[in-house]
Amino acid sequence: MSECLLELETRLKRLSRLGEIAALVSWDQNTYMPPGAAESRAEQSSTLSQFRHELFTADETGSLLEKSDSETAGMAEDSDERRMISILRHDFDRATKLPTKLVAELSHHSSLSQETWINARKANDFASFAPALEKMFDLKRQVAECYGYEEHIYDALLDDFERGARQSEIKTQFEALKPTLITLAAAIRDSSNPVDSSFIQGSFSIDKQRDLTLDVVKALGYDLNRGRQDVAAHPFCTSFSRDDVRITTRFDENYIGQSLYASLHEAGHALYEQGLPVEHQQTALGGSASLGVHESQSRLWENQVGRSRAFCSYLYPTLKQRFPEAFSQHDSEAFYRAVNHVSPSLIRVEADEVTYNLHIMLRFELECELLTDKLAISDLPEAWNAKMRSYLGITPPDDASGVLQDVHWACGLVGYFPTYSLGNLLSAQIWNSAKKALPELDEQIKSGQFSPLLNWLRENVHQYGSKYTPGELIKLATGEPLDSRHYTEYLTRKFSDIYSLA
Ligand code: ZN
Repeated sequence: MSECLLELETRLKRLSRLGEIAALVSWDQNTYMPPGAAESRAEQSSTLSQFRHELFTADETGSLLEKSDSETAGMAEDSDERRMISILRHDFDRATKLPTKLVAELSHHSSLSQETWINARKANDFASFAPALEKMFDLKRQVAECYGYEEHIYDALLDDFERGARQSEIKTQFEALKPTLITLAAAIRDSSNPVDSSFIQGSFSIDKQRDLTLDVVKALGYDLNRGRQDVAAHPFCTSFSRDDVRITTRFDENYIGQSLYASLHEAGHALYEQGLPVEHQQTALGGSASLGVHESQSRLWENQVGRSRAFCSYLYPTLKQRFPEAFSQHDSEAFYRAVNHVSPSLIRVEADEVTYNLHIMLRFELECELLTDKLAISDLPEAWNAKMRSYLGITPPDDASGVLQDVHWACGLVGYFPTYSLGNLLSAQIWNSAKKALPELDEQIKSGQFSPLLNWLRENVHQYGSKYTPGELIKLATGEPLDSRHYTEYLTRKFSDIYSLA
């Protein structure tokens, strides 16, 4: 390896360690931090992020990058060295393109706007949030112009979350998916074979739920020697290194699905993090490919595995033994149907597999229109409600359960929502490839053998870290580019069976 590249790597390892410390600080904030510490914690976090930004954007990083670039110019474009430089060049250019004044303004406005959003949601008062949202979209437009883009202003922002993705590609995938979802949701609503999910609501001891979720994630292959599970209001997974990957879940004493599927989802993220390439730790190749790919791993374990007939059959005897009052009168088929109950709902995070992506499409379409001034902020609530009616057949009774429900836009996460749906689409495509390679997969899951699937994912997805763009990775793992057909077929097959649709 070239001398400059080695020096650059050493610099980036320090940066990466600082990032890990920032993640630890944020994990603590979301789990155990006493509420009185909020202000000093915000300052600690911002000091860390400022320090990281300065270290990364320093002239020395730029000159090391340039020297490494010319020293490795003769190597194959696909070599680790060239890939590493290309990722760093991309990140460095973006980080140095924003004027310091804009970065500061954005960070300042982001905390203010979140504060305003919290109060507006509480008071169900969109008008009081509108000026802050207006300013946020102004700032994001400025950011996008600084970054630059070829096709659509949205691309410049999307790239922060999904390297190389384009608004036009997402639009194409979504347009292909939307009619199937709307038709399927309507057919399920009119089905003559409705699902009874009442028995998974009842009384479930939280201690027992804690034991159950831990046993389940351990069985999947989540290494608790390099991880742990805690409780958070909004479950998440975070990583301080590939040897300390933590998940959180939340418990509802009256509903067992809450903790079970939150844990399965976050464990899916964690399995990916624990499987990242050990030889590229703390380098530009050692991370995940993108948010969409990350979400594909959580969704795959949560849905394709966790909401499958095979998994329900595997888990049911344990459920029956640990919660006999709730489960002794039922069977695994009833449980399978119950955890796949579909019903259009107002709130995205509570949505089922069929309707979830309609919530995302609505947000994606609206943020594109807001960015390009095709929609005024003052008309946003009505536009939101009109799409809810047209896609899901329901109208939010108020803005708190409509346009004010998500924090994303308030903190400046514009271009983030599609990664959730990309994750769903990718999960079905990756699942199909895994099934082809593992013909016994259903039987294996039924008998609690998850390692063949995990090993396949390790080999075909995890081991590549961030070397490839999401587009390249999906081709490598599945042999074809992203195609929403895998997802529509998966949903149609599964729910036509459950709801006896013609
Ligand atoms: Zn997730």
